[in-house]
Amino acid sequence: MPIRVLAPHEAARIAAGEVIERPASVVKELIENALDAGGRRISIEVRQGGTGLIRVSDDGGGIPAHELRLAFERHATSKLPGEADLYHIASLGFRGEALPSIAAAAEVELISRPPEATAGARTRLVGGRVVEEGAQGAPPGTTVTVRYLFRRQPARLKFLRSPAAEGGQVASLVSQYALAYPEVRFTLHTDGRLTLQTPGSGHLRDAAAAVYGGQVAASLLELAPSDGEAAAPPQEARVSGLISPSELSRANRSYISLFVNRRWVRHRTLTYAVQEAYQGMLPPGRYPLAILNVALPPEDVDVNVHPAKTEVRLRRERETFATVQRAVRRVLADYAPVPAWSGPTVSGESPGSGAAAPAAWPMTPLSGPPPSPSGQATPEAPPATVPAEAQPPLAARLPLLRPVGQVSNTYIIAEGPEGLYLIDQHAAHERVLYERLLAQQQEGRADVQGLLEPLPVELSPRQAASLEANADALAAQGLTLEPFGDGTYLVRSVPSCLAGSDIGSAVGELLDLLAGEESAGERSRHVAASLACHAAVRAGQPLSDQEMRELVRALEETEQPRTCPHGRPTMIHLSAEALARQFGRH
Ligand code: ADP
Ligand code: MG
Repeated sequence: MPIRVLAPHEAARIAAGEVIERPASVVKELIENALDAGGRRISIEVRQGGTGLIRVSDDGGGIPAHELRLAFERHATSKLPGEADLYHIASLGFRGEALPSIAAAAEVELISRPPEATAGARTRLVGGRVVEEGAQGAPPGTTVTVRYLFRRQPARLKFLRSPAAEGGQVASLVSQYALAYPEVRFTLHTDGRLTLQTPGSGHLRDAAAAVYGGQVAASLLELAPSDGEAAAPPQEARVSGLISPSELSRANRSYISLFVNRRWVRHRTLTYAVQEAYQGMLPPGRYPLAILNVALPPEDVDVNVHPAKTEVRLRRERETFATVQRAVRRVLADYAPVPAWSGPTVSGESPGSGAAAPAAWPMTPLSGPPPSPSGQATPEAPPATVPAEAQPPLAARLPLLRPVGQVSNTYIIAEGPEGLYLIDQHAAHERVLYERLLAQQQEGRADVQGLLEPLPVELSPRQAASLEANADALAAQGLTLEPFGDGTYLVRSVPSCLAGSDIGSAVGELLDLLAGEESAGERSRHVAASLACHAAVRAGQPLSDQEMRELVRALEETEQPRTCPHGRPTMIHLSAEALARQFGRH
């Protein structure tokens, strides 16, 4: 279809607003154009976080030479036929604003050759004006090169984060498109290094392996065969993709990738539908990994609500929520039947994580969040993290306790002046380590353990970017990694509390945490909590009398012994009085 400039009344109906906010938005628009052009190989190159150079090449349908100039006009698009029908949009783009907006913010060179043309053409724009154009030998397809983004808008430049952080955003963005289009071979180079490559095999699991590593990809559960490319518009909502089994979880929601009709979207309600489906299977504060495409009749989706097209409005949002939740839930239930669970969870632990049966005793946690009956949750409930400040201060200190034994290799029974205490060994140890790590952070000394044999770990592009941006902070904690090529890194040293635990998953989680945008204070608390969680003794691990004594002693010395760093109780208390009552002694 030829490019045409939309009539003013058509253009006026398109959601207005800024398209280009940061390097990742340029990459997004260029990738969408490449996909709309039918590209099967899309390579992306980024330098200095995108402010030096962004280049996106595809092998798609190209632009005829005589249309090159037109492509840079405002509201010029080849994607809306006749009278613009904004309710049946089959392409990713439709606004005709990306190329002119990019050209207004940077120097742009576009070289393109439709496969049927004998030669290609090139045009170069500076400050939005064409400064060079002419014929140019080129392979079929299109290459757009964007240089010096925002050089003429210093205010914009100031709002960007570090090149490593902007590069990380580009990497996660490319990852999303790679997951949405497994039949396309995506290649991303960052400052000359290959940071992501998908095979373009058409299998979602292969794309997931490139993004998240082979091990994670192999463990994912399949919802329905991914609809792939040529699927006709569905009559009703259909959900396909891959989701994590309940034993694989992540520390934040950024691993839930959602596509509506293969358009990558951020959608709170649908994200929540996925989370909801794992209700009772993941510990508080943990989130699933999911790659889901929701195919909907086009007339049920309004894509014209946001200038960057990352949000959509769903006409039947409630039904779609239920469809997504049911689809995910069904696969999880088939994989591992959800244990019947009645009554409140006393410890706040989820049944899936090996916690004991609900207590028959009328015991209450000493502090921490009230027990939440399963099956009930508030939408977008924040992770069950009680900020350290919100907890009772010194008054909550423990009396001296005497351990008398261990139950289920998970709980320590201890006796104190006020009765009986059941201590969750993992939660208690987490609390102890957490406070130690925070103290070490504050004093600027880390207990480091070098690894005799460096340990290889696979990092996602987002994690790799997080490593680059936080290498110094991590080294200060004793964690050093070096690149080993192909997304693999070698762990050279770790904080000594981690020795002997699953270092690979601890490192991955830490990098995820650091990739989030938080204040420095929050960040160091999260890092300490995450390290503590990985380093603490597990439930199910037998402890000697000596170990129990040491753990209880150390817990007594903590500032806030009654909750773990995530706000869950470390212990429950059965007072002498309650005991007497239970035995009818009163
Ligand atoms: P939109 O994608 O909304 O139509 P753009 O400003 O992104 O607007 O692009 C304008 C037009 O330029 C597109 O409609 C398309 O015809 C053409 N175009 C842009 N990029 C490419 C590409 N990589 N391959 C082929 N055509 C392209
Ligand atoms: Mg476009």
